[in-house]
Amino acid sequence: MYIREPEREIIVLDQVDVLVAGAGVSGCAAAMAAARTGARTLLVERAGALGGVATMGLMANIGNLFMDQQGRFVIEGIAREVVQRLVMRGAASDKWASPEVPGCVIDSEQLRVLLIEMLREAGVTVLTHVLATRPVLAETSTPQQRVVQGAFVETKVGRQAILAKQLVDTTGEADLASQAGAPMQWATGTASLEFKMARVDLEALYQHFRQRPETFPVGMDHVKGFAEFERNWVERGIFFFPHGGGRKWDLIQRAIEQGEFERDRGIFHGLDAAGLYGLKGQDSVIVNANFWDITSLKAPELSAAELGAQEICYYVADFFRRQIPGFARAYIVQLASDLGVRTSRAIEGAATLTSGHLTSPHPVYFDDVIGCAPARTRFVESGHFVHAHTFDIPYGLMVPKEVENLLVASGKSAPTEPHGLVRGMSNCMVLGQAAGTAAALAAAQDVIPRKLDIRLLQRTLVEQGAFLGNAERLQALKIDA
Ligand SMILES: Cc1cc2nc3c(=O)[nH]c(=O)nc-3n(C[C@H](O)[C@H](O)[C@H](O)COP(=O)(O)OP(=O)(O)OC[C@H]3O[C@@H](n4cnc5c(N)ncnc54)[C@H](O)[C@@H]3O)c2cc1C
Repeated sequence: MYIREPEREIIVLDQVDVLVAGAGVSGCAAAMAAARTGARTLLVERAGALGGVATMGLMANIGNLFMDQQGRFVIEGIAREVVQRLVMRGAASDKWASPEVPGCVIDSEQLRVLLIEMLREAGVTVLTHVLATRPVLAETSTPQQRVVQGAFVETKVGRQAILAKQLVDTTGEADLASQAGAPMQWATGTASLEFKMARVDLEALYQHFRQRPETFPVGMDHVKGFAEFERNWVERGIFFFPHGGGRKWDLIQRAIEQGEFERDRGIFHGLDAAGLYGLKGQDSVIVNANFWDITSLKAPELSAAELGAQEICYYVADFFRRQIPGFARAYIVQLASDLGVRTSRAIEGAATLTSGHLTSPHPVYFDDVIGCAPARTRFVESGHFVHAHTFDIPYGLMVPKEVENLLVASGKSAPTEPHGLVRGMSNCMVLGQAAGTAAALAAAQDVIPRKLDIRLLQRTLVEQGAFLGNAERLQALKIDA
């Protein structure tokens, strides 16, 4: 059933060079980069806090894609700056920078505040509780070529419009690209609701494994075995029990066999995943232990999953309290306020990345490189492996088809095969920084992002501290001057 919305005049709330929609780590990086490049920048966020999955989703682990096997940094720029500043605030371990550390575990509440600080320093205007609903399109737009001029937003005082020379969509699910009519792809992804338990004795859990190192799960993506887990905890103060490790943990699997715990309940599965992330000095731990297979982004399905997952977290926490060493006195101190969507909707872009690029035995180069990440292969027996070389992340990954003046910069909605190849937070910030810089340059030069001088973008990114390759590579790209 349809009804027709009456035509009406809409108040223009603001007029800027760059409008960024969605203030997760991608959007915050994009807004900072745009403002640092000189653009008048506005960042709108539908919730009341910044950081998206990383904060409201309680996903307190910035995956360590920062360095290659030799420990050389291959992600710099805003992503590294964020981690460095978290370390300075005591919100992450100062010993995280090793290829052996699977992720930089962070205090996600402090990340919220750090992002406010960094955006303020950059001169970005931030509006919260503002939902960007669809792009404002130029009247000259055709179905084949839509030209964006800003976005309509919903606020507490009704619908308004923000006009912008360039729009960066960092909503995670590419809401604005989708509403603009850009060709999209659907990825059957998963979502999880994280929770934080307090009064946890992580040392007791470590001691449990110390006495039975052979029971520590091996063959996971991250953490090769007990020895690595131990070094991370004892020497670096990082408690990292790999997500999925519970499936290979005798204690949990025995409880399932004995009918004391269920792996699957209703629409949720993988309750035995048991990803655990904590920091020494804190008595809390983030638990990553439920999955919902995303069937749709429609409100009834999303709401059922989001609300149901909150009940499921208590089911898992009750089991932890009864059976997991160190959890006897623990309680849920925080439920994520947002269901964390891994992948769902992605754009069709001017470029794509495939798993072949990611696992290539040789470096992968794109002429329109805007960032790098370590190439990697999973070795089932020995765990996560990082190659000595990198693959390039191409600019075209953020340029949607058939829509102009729009860049889509969340790793979640990037056109990769399979989806989600660059959804890690460090990659998200690389994309965000590049999109924000590109949008600012496009606004200043009055060109559409598709036609932006790629060398100018690359040079600006390098000047602003991003890593686009070693000296030889920069020379080959002629951006080393
Ligand atoms: C369960 C889970 C576990 C993960 N584990 C890890 C991990 O261990 N390590 C790692 O590095 N990465 C991990 N990831 C991936 C990573 O956390 C995310 O891909 C990344 O944080 C996404 O950041 P983003 O800014 O692109 O999107 P989001 O964090 O989704 O941010 C989007 C923001 O936009 C806002 N928004 C959405 N729609 C609108 C709109 N229409 N208007 C205005 N605002 C809007 C949202 O409220 C949100 O703040 C995980 C993800 C999930 C879901």
